[in-house]
Amino acid sequence: MSGTVSLVDAHCHVDLLPQWQRVLQSMEMQRQYTFAVTTTPKAWLIERDITQGFHYVRVGVGLHPQVVCDRASELSILERSIPQTRFVGEVGLDGSVAHKGSLNEQTRVLRRVLSVCAEVGDRVLSLHSLRAAGAVLDLVEESRVHEHNTLIFHWFTGSPSELKRALALGALISVNADMLRTERGRACALAAGLQRTLTETDAPFTKAHAATHSPPDVRPALDALAQCHAQDLPIVSQKIEALARGIWQR
Ligand SMILES: [Zn+2]
Repeated sequence: MSGTVSLVDAHCHVDLLPQWQRVLQSMEMQRQYTFAVTTTPKAWLIERDITQGFHYVRVGVGLHPQVVCDRASELSILERSIPQTRFVGEVGLDGSVAHKGSLNEQTRVLRRVLSVCAEVGDRVLSLHSLRAAGAVLDLVEESRVHEHNTLIFHWFTGSPSELKRALALGALISVNADMLRTERGRACALAAGLQRTLTETDAPFTKAHAATHSPPDVRPALDALAQCHAQDLPIVSQKIEALARGIWQR
């Protein structure tokens, strides 16, 4: 935390960083609302124990669409884990060239995850939708998961009309520094508005973090968001923290 500016990281892969246990503990001590996503349910089982009793750092149980091919057998662990944790992620679909071959399998997994969340309710989902925003939105509507859960589209790269669809379903977006460096990313943040936006690092998959594998630093995303909205940093920071608090501490 720097001065009176509070930081929120709504999507980071802490377990892929060196000394990740320490990183989680220091984020908790800094009272930084953090959604640490996992890529497999087995990773969640380990991280969950480290963060027991934490208030600010929440670990999501996930099955990343890019590993669904190899890890589909862990779907049953994921299904059993969802009732035990409010945070679910990273889940979603990836239609990029390297992964579109597994879209059928990805769809089967996501459909199941969304239906369990719809049934359980009050979950917070961090959704991956790279080159598949429309298909993720179709599955959300089909499952009606948005009716009793909080959906966060992480690093949203869909079209303006797909963003409109997501917002109409009550979804939030989480934005990172790389995303806000592009005109499309800034347009997305402006269209969503600060009431619907959280900050994230997606560490270690964003430029600054990929180079160093250093602990997630969400401040550049917050700076870029404040600049994008032409608003003072403390005001933007307060709005994002209030939004996060409402979700995390419910
Ligand atoms: Zn991610």
